[in-house]
Amino acid sequence: MLLKDKVVIITGAASERGLGRATAKLFAENGAKIVIADLNEQASVNAANALPGEGHMGVAVNVADEQQVQAAKEKILAKYGRIDSLVNYAGITQPLKVMDIKAENYDAVLNVSLRGTLLMSQAVIPTMRQQKSGSIICISSVSAQRGGGIFGGPHYSAAKAGVLGLARAMARELGADNIRVNAITPGLIQTDITQGKLSDEQTAQIIAGIPLARLGNAIDIAGAALFLASDLSSYSTGITLDVNGGMLIH
Ligand code: NAD
Repeated sequence: MLLKDKVVIITGAASERGLGRATAKLFAENGAKIVIADLNEQASVNAANALPGEGHMGVAVNVADEQQVQAAKEKILAKYGRIDSLVNYAGITQPLKVMDIKAENYDAVLNVSLRGTLLMSQAVIPTMRQQKSGSIICISSVSAQRGGGIFGGPHYSAAKAGVLGLARAMARELGADNIRVNAITPGLIQTDITQGKLSDEQTAQIIAGIPLARLGNAIDIAGAALFLASDLSSYSTGITLDVNGGMLIH
């Protein structure tokens, strides 16, 4: 039980095959009280109810909307009175070439991943500061490190590179309050984020470049998140944990 009675907010965790959902399940199995924070209230509540153990919660929140984020935080604090960890999974991607990126594409992708990570972090930091403890996990992507070329367009790579910078700078600023901030850079993981738009041929090409010779599974990322949320990583902050099957070794 690595997270016994810890209160953990996981954004973007309603998606059934998603990374957030797998993380929520693993964390709940490790004793955590989970807040599923996703766009649709019913989907969030259903996901929370499906978790092992008791005392979980589902809230509706658009992470890119400051008012909604603050309202969700109030609900969470009213129920639990503390927040031990935040995992920022909410994100979207779009397979666009650079000249096809319109302002609305840029805003959509950057707002969820980058603004959302900032707003959610700002929402939990005061409570973590009072507690003098907390772990914030930011979800970047191998696309940020290798310059895309997998599925998302350049605006996705930029958003996820921004997340890395944000995580590292927050780690530096918040260390004195014993708040750790770390990032995970997943490779290509089998979820619904690509919306069936990745062809078998593209998938085979990607696998050919992966030393472990397979795509990732959501549980592969959940395990990395468990390490970062728990005391197993008590002396790690500002790190980037690559979970990509060796797709990028640097
Ligand atoms: P997913 O599409 O299964 O889940 C994403 C979730 O985010 C959905 O439940 C969606 O409703 C939610 N969401 C979207 N916009 C939101 C908003 N504004 N506010 C709150 N919730 C919102 O995707 P996934 O594959 O589980 O991806 C999770 C994260 O991991 C994303 O940030 C993604 O960019 C990142 N990532 C995924 C992969 C991969 O290969 N699957 C690789 C690298 C990084």
